[in-house]
Amino acid sequence: MAKLLEGKPLAEKIKEGIKQDALSLKKKLVLASIQVGENAGASAYVKSQQKVAESLGIEYRLDKLPPDTSEKSLIESVQKLNSDKSVNGIIIQMPLPPQIDYKKISQFILAEKDIEGMHPANIGKIVFGKAKILPCTPAAVMELLNSIGVDLYGKEVVVVGHSEIVGKPLALLLLDKFATVTVCHIGTSKAGKLEEHVRKAEVLIVAVGKAGLIKGEWIKEGAIVIDVGINRVADKIVGDVEFETAEKRASYITPVPGGVGPLTVTMLMRNLVEAAKLQL
Ligand code: NAP
Repeated sequence: MAKLLEGKPLAEKIKEGIKQDALSLKKKLVLASIQVGENAGASAYVKSQQKVAESLGIEYRLDKLPPDTSEKSLIESVQKLNSDKSVNGIIIQMPLPPQIDYKKISQFILAEKDIEGMHPANIGKIVFGKAKILPCTPAAVMELLNSIGVDLYGKEVVVVGHSEIVGKPLALLLLDKFATVTVCHIGTSKAGKLEEHVRKAEVLIVAVGKAGLIKGEWIKEGAIVIDVGINRVADKIVGDVEFETAEKRASYITPVPGGVGPLTVTMLMRNLVEAAKLQL
């Protein structure tokens, strides 16, 4: 039976380090958050960011803009925060209303204030192994792996999902640790090859958003399974991996909820402190 790889205790441990790091900067750190319109998911995420920020002594400034905000006025808000010396990091909450293109807007955030790690300059630094600010979910996955002391050197690691926010940057971080990385995506599934790749995985990381996509019987005996997926099925939150069968084969497995999720906000705060250091 697999050991549960839970995010919460690890997040608490990492937060202690972040708190010390933040204190050593000897100034009040400020996270500026922009939410456009109302969305229950975004509001819940904002609340959890606020709570974690406060617990770390970080000031959380929320700017709520009306749902009909234009791209131009959102860019102006971002630029104001860019030039505000008291602001260390900026996050734009998702989802955005249809008139706003997130990819376009996110590039207006100064790279050294981009605490989501999605600015092209920050993504680019990952390629060179020089990134200080990492995309939060891939960083959370790397922390979970690190917490169990797995040596990724030469390991068969399979990432399912190639989104810009999770799969692609994660593949680069894993390569940096000399893992042998296979990235599966919709093309892999359509070619009928997903099972074949998953069966080889010594470490399997799934970030797709489809409940039950990965059958428990595909999991290699003793594999480490990180399930990033979040799916609502009949009022329950589940991942992308069939948990009950997978946990009988894996050596470690993340629960959903409670695995990767609790770490992502912590990674956001770590990025804020790293951003503040870059601004010194
Ligand atoms: P996304 O942008 O929709 O990406 C999903 C990826 O899965 C895409 O690369 C997609 O390929 C691929 N895919 C779709 N169907 C597939 C299939 N049948 N077989 C293999 N690959 C397939 O989603 P995301 O933002 O990366 O998020 C993925 C999941 O993780 C979601 O459930 C999300 O809620 C969750 N998530 C959780 C956290 C957390 O903190 N725990 C953070 C972020 C995301 P194509 O684009 O080519 O179709």
